Amino acid sequence: MNTIDFIKTPVNEIYGCNSFNDIVMRERLPKSIYKEVKKVQKGTVALTQDVAEVVAYAMKDWAIEKGATHFTHWFQPLTGLTAEKHDSFISPTPEGGVIMEFSGKELIKGEPDASSFPSGGLRVTFEARGYTAWDVNSPAFVVEDISGVTLYIPTAFISYTGEALDKKVPLLRSMDVVGKHALRILKTFGSDAEQVTTTVGAEQEYFLVDKELADERPDLLLAGRTVFGTMPAKGQEMDDHYFGSIKERAATFMKELNYELWKLGISAKTQHNEVAPNQFEIAPIFESANAAADKNQLTMNVMKKVATRQNMVCLLHEKPFSGVNGSGKHNNWSLSTDTGVNLLEPGENPQDNAQFLVFLMAIIKAVDIYAPLLRTSAANSGNDHRLGANEAPPAIISIFLGDQLSGILESLTKDEKVPTATGEELEIGFTLLPKLPKDLTDRNRTSPFAFTGNKFEFRMVPSSGSIATPNTVLNTAVASVLDEFAGLLESSSDINKTITDIVKETYKHHSKVIFNGNGYSDDWIAEAESRGLANITSTVAAIPEYTKPYSVELFEKYNILSRAELESRSYVYFERYSQQINIEANMMLEMADRHILPAAATYITELSSTIISAREASPGIQMNALEATLNEVNNSAGGLHTASAELKSILEKVRDMDEEESQEIAEAYRDEVFAKMEELRLHGDKLETMMPAELWPFPTYMDLLFRL
Ligand code: ADP
Ligand code: MG
Repeated sequence: MNTIDFIKTPVNEIYGCNSFNDIVMRERLPKSIYKEVKKVQKGTVALTQDVAEVVAYAMKDWAIEKGATHFTHWFQPLTGLTAEKHDSFISPTPEGGVIMEFSGKELIKGEPDASSFPSGGLRVTFEARGYTAWDVNSPAFVVEDISGVTLYIPTAFISYTGEALDKKVPLLRSMDVVGKHALRILKTFGSDAEQVTTTVGAEQEYFLVDKELADERPDLLLAGRTVFGTMPAKGQEMDDHYFGSIKERAATFMKELNYELWKLGISAKTQHNEVAPNQFEIAPIFESANAAADKNQLTMNVMKKVATRQNMVCLLHEKPFSGVNGSGKHNNWSLSTDTGVNLLEPGENPQDNAQFLVFLMAIIKAVDIYAPLLRTSAANSGNDHRLGANEAPPAIISIFLGDQLSGILESLTKDEKVPTATGEELEIGFTLLPKLPKDLTDRNRTSPFAFTGNKFEFRMVPSSGSIATPNTVLNTAVASVLDEFAGLLESSSDINKTITDIVKETYKHHSKVIFNGNGYSDDWIAEAESRGLANITSTVAAIPEYTKPYSVELFEKYNILSRAELESRSYVYFERYSQQINIEANMMLEMADRHILPAAATYITELSSTIISAREASPGIQMNALEATLNEVNNSAGGLHTASAELKSILEKVRDMDEEESQEIAEAYRDEVFAKMEELRLHGDKLETMMPAELWPFPTYMDLLFRL
C-alpha cells in the first residue's frame, strides 16, 4: 500500500467510495424509495419489507461491483469490541450455476449465534437467541482485506423479547429521548426544527510500536499493556533525538490510515503527535452519535490492520506503559437541529442566547446529578491506571466553563450587573451575551468535561472502549433535565423570567460541579471532597452505580435500559474486569517465572563465578561492589520468586470463587490479585535496572518507545 498517491487518485475520487452513503442511495435507488428511506431515517415512518427489498437489491449490486462476495451484520456486543458473521451472497441454481442473492429480510434482520456473546444472563432467563437489526442511520460499507471484499451492515443487537444485548441499542434509544425533549424546548422558542440529534466527534489517541519488538513482549501482545518495564531515567528527553525516525514511520502509517478511512467515508481530519513518545492522535469530523460510534469502532479496527501491514502494532490500551502518558478518547458532544443549528453555540441574537443558556444549565444540572454514572461509563480496567490512580486525570467529574461564562452565571444568580456585547446590562431574552472566547489557547486541558465554545468535550472516555456507553449516559442524563425544563417553559406565562429562574436555581444548586482550576492538582481532590463531589477511583467501585435506585429510575423512566438490562450489564462488566486482570496476572507469571527468573539466575551465576575467579587469581582482593550487586540481584530475584508464588496461590483461590458472585470476584481481583501484581512488578522492574542489557529477556521501554 505504499504506492498511495493522492495526485493520481485525488481524495475526492476515493472519499466514501466504499460507503453506501446518501450520494450512492440517491444515485441507485428509485426516487420514491429514496424518499421513503429518508423518512425512515428521520424516524417518521417505519421501514417496510418492500422498501427493504429494493434497498437490499441496490446495496447488493453496489457491493458486488466492488468485488464483494459476502455480507455481514456488524454489531457491538458488550465486550466493547465489534462482532461479525460472514454469509456469502451465493445461491446455487439447480442447473449447477450460481446467482448472487441478498434479500430485504437479510438486510433488516440477522440471526448471529448469540450464545458466545456476553449477555449477563439475559438470554438465559428470557430467550436463547437474539437478532441483529439494521441501523438505517449508519451507512453500510465494504471492507477489503486478505479475506476478500465484504459488505458490512451496521446493526443493533436485540434479544427476541426486546432486551438490548449490545451497546448500540441504548445509544439509539437515548438519542431519541434527548432529541425529543430538546425539541420541546425549541418549540417554546418558536423554532421550526423537526428533529434534534446528538453530534459527536471522537478524538482517538494511540501508540505505535515496532512489530518485531512487540512480538517479543507477551504482555503487549496478549494484554495490550506492559506488565513489567521501567522508563529510562532520561527517557522523555530522548524524544527529540529520535524524533526524525519516529515521524517518518508514523507518517507512513497515517497516510495509509487516512487513505483507508477516507475510502470508508470516515473523515479523518486531524492527526498529530501526542505528549508521550510514539503516541499520536487522530480526529474525525463530528456527525450523529450513532454513526460516530460505529465509525470510531471501525477506525480502531482499521488502525490495527494498517499497523500490522506496516510491521507495527497499534496500541489502543489506556496505559500501555507506566511512567509515560496514557491514552484516552475525547468525546466532543453537542446537540444539533435538522436545520443545522448547533444548540451549544451561543447565538447571534438575544433569543438564541437565552436558548443557549437553557441548554447549558440543563447540561450542568445533568452532569452534577449523574456524575457517578458518567464516571462509570468511562470505567474499564485500563482506565483504572489513569483515573484516580497515580496519573492524571482524576476520577472526579467536574465541568470547565471558563472564567467568563462562570462569571456571567455567578453574577446573574446574585442579581449583579452583567455587561453585554454592547456594554448594557444583560437581560435574558432582550440583550446579547458578551462574546465568549472559543477555543482559547489557555483553555483548560485538565478538565474531564470542558465547554469548548460550542460543544462539550468529555475527556475521561477510555481509548480502547466504545463511545456508545458514555454517550448513552450523557444523552439520558441531559434528556431528563431537558424534560423537566421543557415542562417549566411550556407552562410559563413569562418565558424570560422562567429562564432567569432556571439559570439562578440551577446555578445555586449545581455550580459545585463547575471547576475552572487545575484538575490535576492534589488540592482539587481535597476541594472536590469538601464540595461533595464523587471520587470513584476504580472500575469495580464504579460498576455498582448502574444498579443503584437513582440510576434504575433514570434509565427505566426513559426506556433506555430496564433494571434487568442494567443488572445484566453490571454482571458482564464485572466479569470483563476480572478476565482482563486475570490475563494480565497470567502474563506476569509467565514473564517472571519463565523469563526474568532464569535471566536473573544466569546473572547471579556469572557474578558469583567472577567473584570466585577474581579471588582465586588475587587472594584478599576487595570485591565490595560485585558482592553488593550480587546480593541485591539475589534479593530481588528472591522477592520476585516469593511474590510470584503468592500471586499463584491468590489466583487459585479467586478462581475457586462462585461464578455467580461477579462483584466479589472483581473485588478480589482488584484488592488481592492486582495488589500482588504491583508488588511482583516492583521486583521485576528493579531487576531490569540492575541487570546487563544483553541478559534482559525483553525489549525495554527504550526500545518500544523510541525505536520505530
Ligand atoms: P480541538 O481543539 O479539541 O482539536 P476541534 O474544533 O478540532 O477542537 O474539534 C475536535 C473534535 O470536535 C473534532 O472531532 C470535531 O469534529 C468535533 N466537533 C466540533 N464541533 C462539534 C459539534 N458541534 N458537536 C460534536 N463534535 C464537534
Ligand atoms: Mg480536543
